Amino acid sequence: MLILGIESSCDESAVAVWDSNQRRVCYEQVLTQIDLHSTYGGVVPGIAIREHLNGFPLLLKNLNQQFDLSSVDKIVVTHGPGLIGSLGIGIAYAQSLQLLYKKPLEGVNHLQGHALSPFIKAYSEDKSFSIEHICPHLGLLVSGGNTLLFELTTQERALKFKILAQTIDDAAGEALDKGAKMLGFPYPGGPFIESCALNGDAHWIDFPKAFPKKTDFKFSFSGLKTSLRYFLAKLTADEIEAQKPSICASYQQAVIGALTKKVEQALTFKSYKSLGLSGGVSNNNLLRSAMERIANHHNIPFFVPQKRYCGDNAAMIAFAGTFLTAPLKVDPNRTLEAIT
Ligand code: AMP
Ligand code: MG
Repeated sequence: MLILGIESSCDESAVAVWDSNQRRVCYEQVLTQIDLHSTYGGVVPGIAIREHLNGFPLLLKNLNQQFDLSSVDKIVVTHGPGLIGSLGIGIAYAQSLQLLYKKPLEGVNHLQGHALSPFIKAYSEDKSFSIEHICPHLGLLVSGGNTLLFELTTQERALKFKILAQTIDDAAGEALDKGAKMLGFPYPGGPFIESCALNGDAHWIDFPKAFPKKTDFKFSFSGLKTSLRYFLAKLTADEIEAQKPSICASYQQAVIGALTKKVEQALTFKSYKSLGLSGGVSNNNLLRSAMERIANHHNIPFFVPQKRYCGDNAAMIAFAGTFLTAPLKVDPNRTLEAIT
């Protein structure tokens, strides 16, 4: 089976082909708009729509030149969650290809794409690997818009998701981006916090911890952001500049600590066969190694996407299209649980 995946939920336009017989990504291209949105401190929906409209003709021209689209068996497209205008453009192109090549077209939940992205490498490198073998799986999905701790199980070979914890306010990536903005970094600030923190002391500020109790299965990051604001208000511009690495390191540590604490709690409540990490924030090396340490401690394998599959991409959509599809129905507010 050759599955063509199309992704346009936010500010990346992407196409990819997953070969489920050879178990590999055989074509992929992503066009990111990040530099254009950076000036505005966040994603501007109107610009995103314009850029998707500019990007997809180019992506499909390149794809057509290198790939025989008539050999594709199925087309899958992200149908939520995401920005409605952005989703609509990917879907419109997917529907055009469906009509042109007379192929089946199905929808993929963007969050399920992220949740399964840690397994792309294992499927490609180990031909006997199967998600079923590593379930029940505990996954942490951390992106600019979502912070989810979930359980993945199999029931009669079908994959089932259950959300264990989610944020009641800001997402982890959003907290990093908002903190970075206060410190004068461009959008998205997560990677800037990470590199500035390399020269800092993570114990310099002891930020308050939200929901420290074992029974509180939820995340919250808005209090952390507010305490950074109050902390910075007490310093002069020169002091902030001089202590920026330690401020970044402490803030980053607070975000990572809040995430890993819930992961450890979940592992004490139930035994899981594997641990996973996904989403844009999974680019963060400190978070990757903290999660790996937890998995090692519990003697279970750890799965994390290759860096190019941490952010939005179509390879994860095409890959997820092998396991989980639904009749196409655009829904910008879809959650991880929604399958149809
Ligand atoms: P996504 O929403 O999945 O596209 O991911 C974007 C989010 O990931 C933004 O909030 C970024 O700041 C964050 N991010 C990307 N790279 C890093 C990194 N190296 N460290 C921390 N956060 C990151
Ligand atoms: Mg995403």
